[in-house]
Amino acid sequence: MKETVAEGAYDTTETANGDNSIPMGDDDGLVHRMAGHMTGIMRELNLDLDDPNFIETPERVAKMYLEMFHGLREGAEPKITTFPNEGDYHHMVIEKEIPFYSMCAHHFVPFYGHAHIAYIPGETIVGLSKLPRILEFYAKRPQLQERLTEQIAEFLWGRLGPQGVMVVIEARHLCVEMRGVKKSGALTTTSALRGCFADRKVREEFLALLARKTAW
Ligand SMILES: [Zn+2]
Repeated sequence: MKETVAEGAYDTTETANGDNSIPMGDDDGLVHRMAGHMTGIMRELNLDLDDPNFIETPERVAKMYLEMFHGLREGAEPKITTFPNEGDYHHMVIEKEIPFYSMCAHHFVPFYGHAHIAYIPGETIVGLSKLPRILEFYAKRPQLQERLTEQIAEFLWGRLGPQGVMVVIEARHLCVEMRGVKKSGALTTTSALRGCFADRKVREEFLALLARKTAW
């Protein structure tokens, strides 16, 4: 398992998109401009743009990109409601097998899989439904699996002030499977950790719980 280290290139502690987010409003203009670029690509491919199957393809692709890259939109960052840790719970909270879809920043084709997120609370806890939203926010943009893993860990570390946090992501990359080395079904695993997860015992407890399959 590879453990990535935050390089500080992406500031995820404040508003995650900084000033680079795509402004809301004028979606018609945005779709129109993006569709124009898609038409250009299709022309370069010598496609018959009168083929009925292609008639609205540029607009469909433009709208699809806006959906798949929603994390880049202004205001997309999830509101994180935290609660005081009144029960004084100081053990591991784990959310396993959270599915996600993202797009490889290098090839603009999907990579997808599951994230496993664990944290040990300090003074605050977070609603469990928020963990998938944080994952989705960072997944819906051109992304690297390594960076996605780090961003989720950094977000929780910065916002919750937990004793520790660890994120493991397992994913299939279509840029590996459909092209290049064409290794179908290869799984890439990344992990990121903060705080007490640096302690081998804590980390091993999490990994042991991950390995345990629950039959529902
Ligand atoms: Zn790729």
